[in-house]
Amino acid sequence: MKLVLLGPPGAGKGTLAQLLKDSLDITHISTGDILREEMKEGTELGQEAKKYIDNGELVPDELVTKLIENRFKSGQEMKPSFMLDGFPRTKQQAIDLDRILADVNKPLDVALYMKSTLPVLIQRLTGRRVCKNCGLLYHIVNKPPKKEGVCDVCQGELYQRADDNKDTIETRMDVYMKSTMPIIEYYKNQRILIEVDADKDSDTVQEILMKTVNENTKRHNH
Ligand code: ADP
Ligand code: AMP
Repeated sequence: MKLVLLGPPGAGKGTLAQLLKDSLDITHISTGDILREEMKEGTELGQEAKKYIDNGELVPDELVTKLIENRFKSGQEMKPSFMLDGFPRTKQQAIDLDRILADVNKPLDVALYMKSTLPVLIQRLTGRRVCKNCGLLYHIVNKPPKKEGVCDVCQGELYQRADDNKDTIETRMDVYMKSTMPIIEYYKNQRILIEVDADKDSDTVQEILMKTVNENTKRHNH
């Protein structure tokens, strides 16, 4: 299963990816995670990306696309199934992704559009917490840890992302509407778009996707 997860910030892409890693043998690639890692390490790319990320703007296409191209062409270990989360985010990135995947002979099977409404997204983003150590996602109301501020699994410290504040969230929503929404149409035209109601709880969203995966596998085997 070769998949892209589409949807606005807070739709639950990262959460779904973390859930699916347990039930599917799949490589998860999140450009947001890669860029945050680069920022933490203070690399040149990280310093450049920070200027955009802190303001809620998109990092320039060339930089992010290069990351993805390297990931697919460097010979780094990758399972036959993969899931892209947070990429593509512009029409140009979608076009470049098709080119990269054609080069490595791994065309996409499904673009999963996680559709959600604004009040839900704002509630999710403002309450999001992330484990500093293992990256596991929490929410202060929807998915609280057993002990406040501490990861259930590795006891790492939970933190709030710098871009999960009200002003930056507003910018990220505007950027999403203007730059990312058009790619929904791009995948609809390719007839690989599947839409799910991402306002539903995570278990329900996961169930819908698992059904899709099974149907897709059946289709491929016949
Ligand atoms: P994205 O990767 O799309 O930006 P996340 O997966 O990080 O979104 O989710 C944002 C926040 O919403 C997290 O705090 C997560 O715990 C919570 N969340 C994710 N999916 C759901 C859901 N289906 N129902 C309730 N809360 C959710
Ligand atoms: P995310 O973790 O997906 O919410 O991404 C956090 C931030 O990283 C975004 O607001 C962007 O600034 C940047 N980013 C992540 N993926 C991309 C991408 N594909 N294109 C441009 N910027 C990106």
